[in-house]
Amino acid sequence: MNLRAKRSGFQSAWCHSLAGKEFCGDTHGLNAGKITNFDVVVIGAGPAGATAALALARNGFAVGLLEKAALPRYKTCGGGVLHRAYQLLPPETETVVERSFHSVALNFLGTDLNFVTTRPQPIVHMTMRADLDCLLTRAAEKAGVQVIESCPVKRVNMQAEFVELVSDRENFRAKFVIAADGVHSVTARTTGWSELPALAPALEYEIYLADEDFARFSQQPRFDFNAIDAGYAWVFSKRAHLSVGILSTRRVCADLPNKLADYLRQIGLTRIQKIEKHGFLIPLAPRREPLARGRVLLVGDAAGLADPVMAEGISHALQSGRLAAAALSECRLDVAKASATYQSLLEQHILPELRAGRFLAKFLYHHPKIRRAAFRAGGQRLCEFVTDVVMGERSYREAVNQPANYLKLLGRWASRASD
Ligand SMILES: Cc1cc2nc3c(=O)[nH]c(=O)nc-3n(C[C@H](O)[C@H](O)[C@H](O)COP(=O)(O)OP(=O)(O)OC[C@H]3O[C@@H](n4cnc5c(N)ncnc54)[C@H](O)[C@@H]3O)c2cc1C
Repeated sequence: MNLRAKRSGFQSAWCHSLAGKEFCGDTHGLNAGKITNFDVVVIGAGPAGATAALALARNGFAVGLLEKAALPRYKTCGGGVLHRAYQLLPPETETVVERSFHSVALNFLGTDLNFVTTRPQPIVHMTMRADLDCLLTRAAEKAGVQVIESCPVKRVNMQAEFVELVSDRENFRAKFVIAADGVHSVTARTTGWSELPALAPALEYEIYLADEDFARFSQQPRFDFNAIDAGYAWVFSKRAHLSVGILSTRRVCADLPNKLADYLRQIGLTRIQKIEKHGFLIPLAPRREPLARGRVLLVGDAAGLADPVMAEGISHALQSGRLAAAALSECRLDVAKASATYQSLLEQHILPELRAGRFLAKFLYHHPKIRRAAFRAGGQRLCEFVTDVVMGERSYREAVNQPANYLKLLGRWASRASD
């Protein structure tokens, strides 16, 4: 195997002698055969993993990025990259952006509540995740990461001095593992983390229409409440087709396909030429334990970091990937410091926002009367606020921590009610 990562003073003596090399010997329970060593192995080449691997390689570590699929691979996702996420991506990302939108619509189906927010900069960039993830992974590869595709990791064993990774193809050893293997994380499962506590089932249909119908639905992205209880539906326009989806924040929602079929009829999206149907889960709350333990750090969906209000996950996937890389770089792969450093970075940058988001999401999804009243009283303001969050200019914490915000909303509600 060819080790492309640069070496630095950060690497331990263990890695100086073994990084990227193969040996056969004491396998500590691994399949007998080839073992490849790295400073850090990142599992999963989604946005979280590719970002972490790139940052670590740039800091001089020997990094292996193991991906179960061959890239590019389809990923069930709307592919909407919010402005706050786009800011974290490398400039060459613009080559995989199919459309960018300055305006976004929010509707409450069956009512007169319809809102549009507009910003001078694009609010959201539309991508196909196969292209985006492949681009990020190739960028990591160029920076020296050894990308190993078609390599599903089956088991991760934490040892005192290193971590062992077992795959069908070969085995690996690393000083640290970053688990970016998504919502079904094998790493979290085989190293003892509890289940993700809040999973939202979601469907994503790739829909192809005749030109005149496509023109009608591709003006701006739309989000629609009232298509489903405790969730929403959306239409995103790509270059030549629509990504249409629906999600429920209730874990068990058996009739999601029927709800999506009803939604398509309700908005008049009926003359479909071709349709590809996909479904997956979105983790709306982090795992209960600290998100790093010993030599393993969880990032992105594997950690459960999607935004609980919007069910958007790319922003925190990118951010947590960067934070995990920063923690390992800062503590120079010191196992005594790594977990605490990563957890403290998450506490500074992501976790309080998720807590505030979950508080707001309760009202949005589980108290429809309050939601309706709040949007009737101040819907445009609420949409502008969420758009500011999307743009990375404001936070949910602000809304939750400032009691004046509730009082203002109640005041508007009361004055509307007395009109
Ligand atoms: C229907 C739907 C629509 C969505 N729409 C949006 C949207 O428009 N915008 C947005 O921001 N978010 C959206 N999300 C959420 C978003 O897709 C995720 O939050 C995001 O992909 C998380 O990135 P990640 O890198 O953590 O994990 P993933 O993108 O899931 O990447 C995990 C990677 O790990 C690999 N892997 C898994 N197991 C193994 C293994 N054992 N060994 C090796 N590799 C492995 C997988 O193949 C995959 O490449 C949507 C989600 C769904 C389900």
